[in-house]
Amino acid sequence: MRVAIVCTGDELMQGVIVNTNAAWLAEQCHKLGSEVVWQVTVSDDEGPIGEAVQEATSKAACVLVSGGLGPTTDDITIASVEKVFGKMKGTSLANKVGTAPGVQVTLGKAVVFFLPGVPPELYQIFSDSILPWLRERQEGAHAERVLHCFGMREAVIDEKLRNVDLCGTRLSFRVKFPEVLLKVLGQKAEKAAANIRQCLGDVVYGEGDAQFSQVVGDLLRAKRTTIAVAESCTGGQIADLITDISGSSDYFERGLVTYSNRSKMELLGVAEVTIQKHGAVSRECAVEMARGVRVRSGTTLGLAVTGIAGPTGDTAEKPVGTVHLALAWDGGEQVEHFCFTRERKAFKQLVSWTALNMVREHFL
Ligand code: ATP
Ligand code: MG
Repeated sequence: MRVAIVCTGDELMQGVIVNTNAAWLAEQCHKLGSEVVWQVTVSDDEGPIGEAVQEATSKAACVLVSGGLGPTTDDITIASVEKVFGKMKGTSLANKVGTAPGVQVTLGKAVVFFLPGVPPELYQIFSDSILPWLRERQEGAHAERVLHCFGMREAVIDEKLRNVDLCGTRLSFRVKFPEVLLKVLGQKAEKAAANIRQCLGDVVYGEGDAQFSQVVGDLLRAKRTTIAVAESCTGGQIADLITDISGSSDYFERGLVTYSNRSKMELLGVAEVTIQKHGAVSRECAVEMARGVRVRSGTTLGLAVTGIAGPTGDTAEKPVGTVHLALAWDGGEQVEHFCFTRERKAFKQLVSWTALNMVREHFL
């Protein structure tokens, strides 16, 4: 069903309050599979309110109007619409939270719902009276799939997906740094999502409300693996990510922030000569950090990062953004080198996710 949303209020027009009602209503409709085709915000004035509702009824079969139902002189929504359509005979919708009830009327081909502007009142009336009404009129099944991707830029994903059969669904991209979300909408969303997964492979780490640290944590637990982390340039963010998950003590043994050269030697056993010869930001140092934290913690895995977050601290051979990541296990190790030219905060976040992604890929 096509839906239009009209929000009234001088405070909205002046930017004094944010239009959360429109966002909330749109989200509810979208979840149901109803298409929001038009949204407009108007001041508390008779002309604009009347015009907006009239226009909305020409665009959609269901119109949701927010605000201006109270008893004060600036609450003129109903009167303004009656100026255009004449006296209305509506059904009242119970307001269990406040005083002014909602109103449902048929205007031309559209059904119009008037709702109070106060958010909790609007939420309650929508959920109790409008949601069931919309659900009953929902045509066909609504299907949506959200795929979470990490380790590939949006433009590259887009390029790769050019020849994938999306089965007539609508695909949209959303960057939620440092990950990219792909939303597939349409009847055959499941099949389209399967095709996308096949094309992107391990870049897709989860679906729906998947959380990256949870996915990595679940793998560690399933493989009965424990991990210890030695961080330099991420300053503890990897440990922070891991411990975002309740129950992470099952697999997370410890995290050390070894920022100085001295701490790398004292706490991880990195050799002085390694740092002298290759520097603290080097493949060799990362490997010794990973081995050191693993052996000293007695864990299955040791994960380490060392890099230059910037904006200062770079050298000719080691530009800002240089980072070495190492994962060590009994009898082996993997080392990766990247140059992420991002501002400091984003750099730390990207490196932390990349480090956890090494752990994820270790098990795939
Ligand atoms: P009242 O009886 O409180 O006057 P009302 O139905 O007349 O309710 P409004 O006067 O338009 O509604 O708005 C009341 C309050 O609700 C606003 O001051 C504002 O805080 C909040 N509000 C209104 N519209 C919105 C909106 N679109 N998004 C978020 N908050 C809103
Ligand atoms: Mg009011």
